[in-house]
Amino acid sequence: MNVNFIAYNGIILSIRSAMRSQNIISTDIPNYVGPYMPLQLSVIVKSPKGSKDIYNVFINNQVKPSAVDKWNTIINIDRGFSWTYVFSLPFKTTLDTQLRFFQYKINHRILGTNSLLHKIGIRKTNSCTFCQREAETIEHLLWNCPITQTFISSFTNWIINNCNSINTIDLTIASFLFGTMKYGTVFNKILMRTKLYIYKCKMREITPAINGLKFDIRYLFDIENTIALKEANLNNFEKLWEPFKNLYAHDS
Ligand SMILES: [Zn+2]
Repeated sequence: MNVNFIAYNGIILSIRSAMRSQNIISTDIPNYVGPYMPLQLSVIVKSPKGSKDIYNVFINNQVKPSAVDKWNTIINIDRGFSWTYVFSLPFKTTLDTQLRFFQYKINHRILGTNSLLHKIGIRKTNSCTFCQREAETIEHLLWNCPITQTFISSFTNWIINNCNSINTIDLTIASFLFGTMKYGTVFNKILMRTKLYIYKCKMREITPAINGLKFDIRYLFDIENTIALKEANLNNFEKLWEPFKNLYAHDS
């Protein structure tokens, strides 16, 4: 091994001298056997409890996601609005990992819109796939775009006309983008799937339409049905989905 012993010895002496000057006592430093392993990594490698310990590391991490400041400048946040609640909502709503990850990308502003793709040099233009008039940010694509607004209005009418338990739907940009439990868990699942549908239409460069969304809601129902069967939670599942049955019936 090619080691410069003079440099090595110099480093050791400097560390000792720095420790003395800072009053660091060597017994304060854990005696590591082998390479140093960060806490997060040691939880993954050594934890006997697995996911529970990993989850604790995440919930004890109080660092504010950088997207929050950006969202606060874009959206008028209501009183009582909680970002902690927003970030926990996808996990309270569904076990479907595709939907959870999609909502995560919205919350953290990492969804592949033309604005983001343009910023990182993948797309020549940042203009909206649907209207081609404004920059395709998340808030434009999933809410402000006139094409999306027309679709959301058809969406709310479709829900009201097909669900006896819901007579009016009052959606805001915040409740649409981040979700709401105001109309129940199933409605929030449908909302997540609807946002994913809009994004899929953008990817395929087609205009969103209720007839297309119906297939996705049927697919959502099938996935949730499979999860309920696996979790032996079928009675509760049927009760929760009953008011929405016209949405995923084949002839709706
Ligand atoms: Zn647009």
